[in-house]
Amino acid sequence: MKRFSKEELFILRNKIEINKLIHEILKVPSKVSNGCIRFRCPACFNYNTSTKSDTNLARCFLCEMNLNTIEMVMAVKKTDFYPSAQFLQSYLPSNISYNHVNSIVEKETNSNPKFQASSYKQKPKKPSRIDFICNLVYTRLFEMKKK
Ligand SMILES: [Zn+2]
Repeated sequence: MKRFSKEELFILRNKIEINKLIHEILKVPSKVSNGCIRFRCPACFNYNTSTKSDTNLARCFLCEMNLNTIEMVMAVKKTDFYPSAQFLQSYLPSNISYNHVNSIVEKETNSNPKFQASSYKQKPKKPSRIDFICNLVYTRLFEMKKK
């Protein structure tokens, strides 16, 4: 079985928009509340959710859980990590280059093991604020590198 490299996983988590994934690709049921589109949490089926395009994460406030793109596929389709990543790969834009993200991926995975693809089956941890900030910084770095 092919293993995904850190670069590939980084790209799968960051280069497929979480909103596009939820609404267009996975077609998760959603409803509009207070002018915002809320998707149905695949774990608790409530709509107390939001997405953050900065970090490309979806959050359920009841489950107190963040889902990245791979975890979202796992949760919605009830598939394991590998088939979920493979599924996502087919939706990657074709112009993605792996080279320019290498250094960031190194930093990401070395400094914070939590950023490695985690399994949805793990007990959901309460995400700390620092995780959010780290993720934001990495996203910014990633964007800067692109220019
Ligand atoms: Zn939930």
